[in-house]
Amino acid sequence: MAGKHIVLVGAGHAHLDVIAGAEAFTRRGHRLTVIAPGDFWYSGLATGVAGGIYPPALDRIDIAALTAKAGGTYHRGVVTGLSSERSRLTLEDGTEVPFDVVSLDIGSEAPPIPGEAAHPDRCFAVKPVRRIAELRATVEARAAAGRPTRIAVAGGGATAAEMAANLEALGRRIGGRVDVTLLAGGERVLAQLPGRAGAAAVDALRRRGVLVRTGARVASVDPDAVRLANGESIGTDLFVNATGLRPRRLAVCDLPLDPNGALVLDRHLRSRRDPRVHGGGDCVAIEGHELPRIGVYAIRQAPVLARNLLAAAEGGEPATFEPQARYLWIMNLGDGTGLAMRGGLWWHGRAAFRLKDWIDRRFLAKYA
Ligand SMILES: Cc1cc2nc3c(=O)[nH]c(=O)nc-3n(C[C@H](O)[C@H](O)[C@H](O)COP(=O)(O)OP(=O)(O)OC[C@H]3O[C@@H](n4cnc5c(N)ncnc54)[C@H](O)[C@@H]3O)c2cc1C
Repeated sequence: MAGKHIVLVGAGHAHLDVIAGAEAFTRRGHRLTVIAPGDFWYSGLATGVAGGIYPPALDRIDIAALTAKAGGTYHRGVVTGLSSERSRLTLEDGTEVPFDVVSLDIGSEAPPIPGEAAHPDRCFAVKPVRRIAELRATVEARAAAGRPTRIAVAGGGATAAEMAANLEALGRRIGGRVDVTLLAGGERVLAQLPGRAGAAAVDALRRRGVLVRTGARVASVDPDAVRLANGESIGTDLFVNATGLRPRRLAVCDLPLDPNGALVLDRHLRSRRDPRVHGGGDCVAIEGHELPRIGVYAIRQAPVLARNLLAAAEGGEPATFEPQARYLWIMNLGDGTGLAMRGGLWWHGRAAFRLKDWIDRRFLAKYA
């Protein structure tokens, strides 16, 4: 059997384990290429990086080294197009890469807010996660120069609340003056959390001095302020966009996408139109499932992807992705405590943070 060219686009949570185990492809004579703009950043530790708990280097995995270890080729680049008809990917610099089998894991982005792109030194979206490390460095540099920092965090979900909590904690850790305002567009913050868990987290934030505002949808970002939908202007030095995640999409793709721009896949994580094309993580929509965009699912898709990429290269029965109905979610509140949730159960305390820290460090240690 002639070896096939297996191409992985993006080095995110859904591909990490596929890359780590890709010797299973190369030792069978297949060629592996990984195309991504840079290293893998783990989102589980990201808010702890913002809070100064973890060094950024701990949160990052060298994809070129991981790919080389598996006998593959790492191509630093950004894919802009996928042609199923021509079996080719197009990169930003015009390079074309042919594939026999391909998998797409290009993740998600916070929906851009007008004005943000013009001020990259002051505006930080939570994706790519690398930007969170840059945000922390900016806050630290301002503190080192004796400058106070006002930070506005837009969003009302778990990521926004965790970012606000950790930025407040960062201020304490570095002894700088950091004032954090959480601007939630809806009438409640953490409305999706079970029982009184959301209210408990908001109380904790307020006790620590975070200003939590609801009904405060950010409409645009000015050089030194954010403008709310009601016209109010709030002075700020740094802005964090944590308003949710939407799938990243390629500029050109001749396969079906859902209305959000996610690549539509069957339960084998393959495009029904072209079963050589696979995908995982936040950039895909799986028929019959409405899954939140969380790393838990992306990571669980990796073994299914690994097996099905090989099945597509060699023939064979594909595995089915069965998402778990419940999962453990632990928010890092930056002060040594965590808020843990599973189904309708939740608890807040130091043990929850220690459990999260253990899970996240154990995950990363596998690839170190
Ligand atoms: C601050 C924060 C904290 C979070 N905490 C948690 C948590 O505790 N638990 C949890 O389950 N989920 C968490 N999430 C959600 C989680 O980050 C995502 O669901 C997860 O990252 C999805 O992984 P992915 O594989 O889809 O994409 P990602 O891991 O984001 O990877 C996408 C990859 O694609 C690459 N890429 C992008 N565009 C291109 C392109 N055009 N060409 C080539 N490569 C490209 C990127 O460089 C990157 O390597 C958090 C999210 C954020 C923002």
